[in-house]
Amino acid sequence: MEVDRVIPYHPCLHPLAHHTVPRLHLPVAPKCNTRCGYCEREIAPHATSVVAPGLSGTLLSPSQALAKTREFLHRWGESAVVGIAGPGEPLANETTFNTLRLISREYPEITLCVCTNGLALPERCEELQDLGVRHLTITINGFDPLVVAQIQPIVNKDGRVYEGKRAAEVLFENQSAGLAIAVEVGMVVKVNCVVVPEINGNHVLSTARKVKDLGAHVFNPIPLIPRGLFRDMNEPDACYMAHLRSLCSSIMPVFHQCKQCRADAEGIPGKEKVR
Ligand code: SF4
Ligand code: SF4
Ligand code: SF4
Repeated sequence: MEVDRVIPYHPCLHPLAHHTVPRLHLPVAPKCNTRCGYCEREIAPHATSVVAPGLSGTLLSPSQALAKTREFLHRWGESAVVGIAGPGEPLANETTFNTLRLISREYPEITLCVCTNGLALPERCEELQDLGVRHLTITINGFDPLVVAQIQPIVNKDGRVYEGKRAAEVLFENQSAGLAIAVEVGMVVKVNCVVVPEINGNHVLSTARKVKDLGAHVFNPIPLIPRGLFRDMNEPDACYMAHLRSLCSSIMPVFHQCKQCRADAEGIPGKEKVR
């Protein structure tokens, strides 16, 4: 990856930091405002060896998350990263904001980050910034409504349910607006794009171009983990992903190391303790 000066030493953004900087994911956000075909949200205390986003061994309340954060920072030091990545959509859960508030009050200097589908980002971005979030990951699977509707066919925005092509349009209109606001307020933004070869495989490059134009700093194409409604679909192989990442690298910095960690991951990515 071409490491631009703007890319901070953060495990989700910088290739070297990924192997050295520990991160804690606080599973405080169970609800979601969309329905992705590949999603299988699960609180599974015994599924200790399964690695997938949307999966967590437990759910924490904001005060339990603060206690967990204290323990984690005591062990790893305050240069570790604390983030919220599910198991649902962080911005669709007030517990996310309550947790960030508690943590930023006690640890105003630590690095806080959030992963989001971007649907509620336009109205919540400045609040995230006020709470000390400076790094954001947004998952954007494309900008063609007929393509995105096959991956995310339902969204719920401001109490209204949208389906099909309109759902996809509402989703990427909000993702685009939210991404632009995040960049404007000074956040460093990585965009994840879940690669489902049969659906959006031919749209990943155009997605990279568009998010670059919107100001994203890093692009992270990640292979489909066949779960949920997409459990019978093909996972792109390493060769397919390497080729795609290399093509995207000519457009903007690409992250190559992501292993798509769990909503309750903790430690150095790839070297987590076995739960
Ligand atoms: Fe932060 Fe999201 Fe990366 Fe976790 S996956 S460290 S929450 S940006
Ligand atoms: Fe699942 Fe995240 Fe999609 Fe919601 S946005 S359905 S939690 S993958
Ligand atoms: Fe971020 Fe992916 Fe690394 Fe997890 S595995 S810390 S989601 S880059």
